[in-house]
Amino acid sequence: MNDAPKKAWEEGLQACHVCDRLEPIGLERCGRCNTTLRLRKQDSRQRTLALTITASLLMIPAHTLPIMTTETLGDAEGSTIVGGVLTLWHHGSYPIALVIFIASVVVPIGKLIALYWVVLGRMGLDLDSAVRRSFLFRMSHMVGPWSMIDVFVVAILVGLVQLVGVLQIYPGLAVVSFAAMVVVTMLAANSFDERLIWDRVKM
Ligand SMILES: [Zn+2]
Repeated sequence: MNDAPKKAWEEGLQACHVCDRLEPIGLERCGRCNTTLRLRKQDSRQRTLALTITASLLMIPAHTLPIMTTETLGDAEGSTIVGGVLTLWHHGSYPIALVIFIASVVVPIGKLIALYWVVLGRMGLDLDSAVRRSFLFRMSHMVGPWSMIDVFVVAILVGLVQLVGVLQIYPGLAVVSFAAMVVVTMLAANSFDERLIWDRVKM
């Protein structure tokens, strides 16, 4: 296989990770946007791993604390995310229950697993598994922010349902941990340098 794809650094080139301009290795700053050039994002794996672990820990309060408290005629009742999904399901609101379940459980957990898999991946990948890894990373990066739908649902409910003394809804502490978890997961994905996947490919 003489026509195996070459890596840019083998040709003496590096890409600016802000504007993607190709510059020769050795140049300190990008000629277009003046960013400091680095062959790969600094400490990319360590940062991504640290942020992914943080997000996994934030997942615990996000799912065990109440996401909202419903006060009906003086009786306050807290409900967790999964509890809320089950209540919606029992009341026959299947589409909403499904959307919230996917946005708040399936997507965030899937994204964390994907990040662990991509960051802790073994050395010396073959081309196919690098393509799969890359695809999964981009997919999870793309759908990740949609998890915020949960936070918006609570925000809308809190704003809409305020019949003082009859029915009131308050946001719970889980909203804060959940929003923090989504943001930290996005930061984790952003600090990962996708080219590290390709660096491990054996050509
Ligand atoms: Zn640049």
